[in-house]
Amino acid sequence: LKILAIETSCDETSVAVIKNGREIMSNIISSQISTHRIFGGVVPEIASRMHLENINLIIKEALEEAKIGFEDIDLVACTKGPGLIGALLVGISSAKAISFALDIPLVGVNHMEGHICANYLVHKDLEPPFIGLIVSGGHTYLVQVNSYTDFEIIGRTRDDAAGESFDKIARALGLAYPGGPEIDAQAKKGNPEAIDFPRVIIDKKTYDFSFSGLKTSVLNYINNQKQKNIELNIPDICASFQQAVLDVLIEKSYRLLKEKNMNKFVISGGVAANSKLIEMAEKMGEENNIKVYYPSKILSTDNAAMIGCAAYYDYINGKRDELSLKVYPNLELGQ
Ligand code: ATP
Ligand code: MG
Ligand code: FE
Repeated sequence: LKILAIETSCDETSVAVIKNGREIMSNIISSQISTHRIFGGVVPEIASRMHLENINLIIKEALEEAKIGFEDIDLVACTKGPGLIGALLVGISSAKAISFALDIPLVGVNHMEGHICANYLVHKDLEPPFIGLIVSGGHTYLVQVNSYTDFEIIGRTRDDAAGESFDKIARALGLAYPGGPEIDAQAKKGNPEAIDFPRVIIDKKTYDFSFSGLKTSVLNYINNQKQKNIELNIPDICASFQQAVLDVLIEKSYRLLKEKNMNKFVISGGVAANSKLIEMAEKMGEENNIKVYYPSKILSTDNAAMIGCAAYYDYINGKRDELSLKVYPNLELGQ
C-alpha cells in the first residue's frame, strides 16, 4: 500500500511517499524558515502563499524520488489540523484534487498524532502501548497511547508550549528564529546552574504544564541585567532556562511512567531534537529500566512522512474522508 502524504500546517511544505505504513520511499521537505526569519516568526499569509507556489513542485519531486507515478498511489493523505488555516487549506485542497482525479481514498490526519508516528518510521519494532511526550512549537502533551489510534491525554500546557518558550526567549536574546536549535547550541557553552529560574510543577496532582511563569522570570532577568548595564551571559541564560524547562518535562514524564507502570517512553515534536532533553531522558530510562524512543532530527520537526504513517494506521482501522473534509486549526490530539 503506497500513500502520498502532504503536510502544510505551518512553514514546511512537505510531501512523502510511504509504503506499508513504516517505510519511507521519499520525504521532501521545503522549509520556509529563511523567509520567516526576517520577521522573527512565521507570517501566516506568507506561509500560505509559499505553500501554494511550491506544492505542485514538491509533489512531483516526492514521486520522482520514490521512482513512481500518480498511477501507483493507493491513498492520499493530508494534515487536517491543527495549524494555520490558510496553510492547511493548500495541502487539503491538493489532496482532494488528487483523490478526485485518481479516484483513490482520502484520509485527513491529525498533525499531533503524526508527530508521535515519526517514531514508528525510525523504530521498526516500536508498538503501543506507551507513554508519549509531545513537545512542539504549539503544543505540549503527556499522553497515554493505548493503540495506534487511541490517545488518552493525561497532561497538557496551560499556557505556552515548550517549543514556544524556546522561541520567545531566543527572540528576547536576539537569537535567530526558530529559537530551539539556537538555545540548544548556546546552552552547550553555558552553566545550567548559573541562574536559578523557577521549575513550575503547578502541583503534584496534575500532569499539566505551565511555562509562561518561567518565561516571565527569564525576561525579567534579562531586563534587569540590561538596566544595570551588565553584559548578558547568553550561554548561561540559555543553559539555565533550558534546564528549567527540561527538569519539569522529565520529572512529570517519569512520574507518569511510574504511576502507569509503563516501561516505554516515546518523545516527539520539534523539541525532541533537543540534545539535552534526549540526554536526560536516556539517563532517566537507564536508571529506571525504561526504554526511551525519539525520532531522528529531521523527523522531529514537521514532515510529511509522519503524516503518511499516521494515515496508514487510520486507514487500516477503517477511516476514510469525503471530499467535504474541512480543516481544523485548533484540533485536539485524538480528534
Ligand atoms: P505544532 O506541531 O505544535 O503544530 P510546529 O509544527 O510549529 O508546532 P514543530 O515543527 O514540531 O512545531 O517544532 C518546531 C519547534 O521545535 C520550534 O518551537 C523550535 O524552536 C523547536 N525546536 C527545534 N529544534 C529544537 C532544539 N534542538 N531544542 C529545542 N527546541 C527545538
Ligand atoms: Mg516549522
Ligand atoms: Fe509540528
